[in-house]
Amino acid sequence: HKGHISMVGMPDGHMGEGFFATKLSEVVGLARKNSIWPLPFATSCCGIEFMATAAAHYDLGRFGSERMAFTPRQCDLMMVMGTISKKMGPVVKQVYLQMAEPRWVMAVGACASSGGIFDTYSVLQGIDQVVPVDVYVPGCPPRPEAILDGLMRIQDLVGQESLRRRNSEHYQKLLDSYGIQ
Ligand code: SF4
Repeated sequence: HKGHISMVGMPDGHMGEGFFATKLSEVVGLARKNSIWPLPFATSCCGIEFMATAAAHYDLGRFGSERMAFTPRQCDLMMVMGTISKKMGPVVKQVYLQMAEPRWVMAVGACASSGGIFDTYSVLQGIDQVVPVDVYVPGCPPRPEAILDGLMRIQDLVGQESLRRRNSEHYQKLLDSYGIQ
């Protein structure tokens, strides 16, 4: 009985699933985590660091993520890199809404994570005011190694995602808190 099995070390989303659903989730997770397609939402300096991350020396392609696009429907990871003004906030949310599930969000750098040095009336003090963020990458700007570390953390999340977690009560509550249906 699932109530008597220790869930220590088990991915959250797998709890309560049967054997086959769990195995299928793992296979799908393996495929998903090695083919994450980023949407680079770059507005300023952190975006330049991302270009270095994607180029030959750091080679994002090693992680299966060299395929980038600016069409939200063809991406599953929104990477927000740079200062986001309050006027830009609704655009960030709109792009997020246009992405198909399952989708993830990475806040790259201090500005995207918290507004950074721009503690002003016009700058959003972190994109988590408008969309749920899965991973925050610190730095001003973060080095490519830090961005790659963030991507690997996203891969960990993606690999653990169960097929049903995105329908879970917890996730729906999270979306509700952002006014997202
Ligand atoms: Fe530029 Fe620093 Fe803001 Fe990145 S965190 S966008 S490097 S000011």
